[in-house]
Amino acid sequence: MTFSGFLNKVFFREIAKGLKLTLKHTLHREVTVPYPHEKLTLPDTHRGALCLLKYENGEERCVGCDLCEAACPSHCIKVVSAEDQTDGILRRYATDFDIDITKCVFCGFCVEACPVNALGMTKMYEYSTPDKKTLLFDKPKLYEIGEKNYGEAKNYLVAHNQEDHDEASRAYEYRFPSNYTPEPEPAPEEEKAK
Ligand code: SF4
Ligand code: SF4
Repeated sequence: MTFSGFLNKVFFREIAKGLKLTLKHTLHREVTVPYPHEKLTLPDTHRGALCLLKYENGEERCVGCDLCEAACPSHCIKVVSAEDQTDGILRRYATDFDIDITKCVFCGFCVEACPVNALGMTKMYEYSTPDKKTLLFDKPKLYEIGEKNYGEAKNYLVAHNQEDHDEASRAYEYRFPSNYTPEPEPAPEEEKAK
């Protein structure tokens, strides 16, 4: 045994070193947040649960273009759309809109792809459940989240430079050009000939 090893054994140097380290950390400020008793303040850029948004007059923003579905790397969005021409004004909308949140990786690509800012992300993250089926967010659920967390979703869009906090952005409403006439649906015989 070396002389230094002998001293270490006699004076319990390793134990003293350990106690010194423990004492140092005991006096440090706590860095762990005791969730759920305390919660962190999340930034506006936070990517939480997705939602669908409406215009201020209550009209749905989504025009059922499917761009979010195409942009999603997880293939967890399914949009079914239809056209409506009552009053001679063409409107396109989503009849069904589903997001399988169990597959979502919260990348935000779908929000970026949306041309009318119909999608937003909220700071909502407490929705764990033993029933996986409830994590298939359908259209009513997505609008419900959007209504409850409207401010957060709007702040997300502003924080990601997709919308401005000004009068023009609030007043903006997408409309199909008035001279646009959709092509008639091909007859079943024409469809077969193609
Ligand atoms: S956040 Fe990303 S993974 Fe989730 S639905 Fe949107 S595009 Fe898909
Ligand atoms: S949410 Fe946006 S991108 Fe997705 S279908 Fe609707 S309008 Fe298109």
